[in-house]
Amino acid sequence: MTLVNLLDHDLDALAALCEQQGEKRFRATQLFQWIHQRGVADFDAMSDLAKSLRAKLALIAQVRPLPVVSEQVSADGTIKWLFDVGAGNAIETVFIPESDRGTLCISSQAGCAVACRFCSTGHQGFSRNLTTGEIVAQLWHAEHALRARGLAAGEGERVISNVVMMGMGEPLQNYAALVPALRVMLSDHAYGLSRRRVTVSTSGVVPMIERLRDDCPVALAVSLHAPNDALRDELVPLNRKYPIAELLAACRRYLEKAPRDFITFEYCMLDGVNDSLEQAHELVALVSERPATRIACKFNLIPFNPFPQSGLHCSPRERVLAFAEVLRAAGLVTTVRRTRGDDIAAACGQLAGEVQDRTRLRERATRRPMRIHAETPAPPAHAKESA
Ligand code: SAH
Ligand code: SF4
Repeated sequence: MTLVNLLDHDLDALAALCEQQGEKRFRATQLFQWIHQRGVADFDAMSDLAKSLRAKLALIAQVRPLPVVSEQVSADGTIKWLFDVGAGNAIETVFIPESDRGTLCISSQAGCAVACRFCSTGHQGFSRNLTTGEIVAQLWHAEHALRARGLAAGEGERVISNVVMMGMGEPLQNYAALVPALRVMLSDHAYGLSRRRVTVSTSGVVPMIERLRDDCPVALAVSLHAPNDALRDELVPLNRKYPIAELLAACRRYLEKAPRDFITFEYCMLDGVNDSLEQAHELVALVSERPATRIACKFNLIPFNPFPQSGLHCSPRERVLAFAEVLRAAGLVTTVRRTRGDDIAAACGQLAGEVQDRTRLRERATRRPMRIHAETPAPPAHAKESA
């Protein structure tokens, strides 16, 4: 019999599982705390659970982490893990430490079906959705591995204060697995992250933005990348299905549920493609409109991380700054993403994409030096400016 992976369960699902075993809900809470707050996977170590319950659990369930293929630590403290998700697929998870927070960038899929022009993950195509347990396992591993290294400020303190769903994959095309994973992140009995410190980044899956607003309205980042449909159709093919006007309407409705929030628009700076000053003005017009319909938003300009097959280049620094100035002059809060982990960097998803089979996964685990993942997302609510 395949054992149930308890990382797949949010608290309600765990309570249902315990009830099936004739146990009360508070037992599920204890179990949940052992797993997520204390990072314990071995039922025998869960000393305040009855021995009989521990024995029952061992027969039906386990806490199943993801096998680590490699871990890279950058000189600036950025840590990148590559996890094996089977069948030759690997996913990336990145920890970005800063003085006032620790951000974990989590993957939601192996590959991605959206196929954005500038994205290494998109170039790999889609392999499969991650399960809730595989999404949660990235946080579980990172939090407890970092605590074990003494990176927490004090006993019982968390290392990871923010999560951004900005790793590989389109989280809103894996909605059913995403929402329970978000609930685990938010639960006071698990990671206790506040709604605003968990960000879902999407290329614009409009119907799922609507559902997220109702099910779990965490912070929303939208990958815009172009000021008009003609260009966005080319860069983000999903735009042909959900054009900009529909996307912005969904953003407005999202904010109705969380009126004190704002949308972060991500904009990847591509040399000669979307970075002219005219395009900056077009962008201002797009989001400004009439005051009544103006979207509460900020912009995060992301220097493009080049990768060989893209045929694209990052905009020169001066152009990025000039573009930012146009947005700022129009009253739009604009940050330019800092690049972190340069010494272990490559484009987002690139390393995982190079991994084709298990043999190569294993080879990579022992080879040095390794170049992986340069995507360095910062949580929009607190993003730092480098300009
Ligand atoms: N699929 C979601 C989340 C993952 S991508 C989305 O598209 O929003 C996270 C962010 O990284 C997105 O804004 C994406 O556009 C950006 N990104 C992807 N490839 C990049 C690259 N090569 N250089 C810079 N940013 C990139
Ligand atoms: Fe998928 Fe996001 Fe990459 Fe586009 S940018 S291909 S949506 S992961």
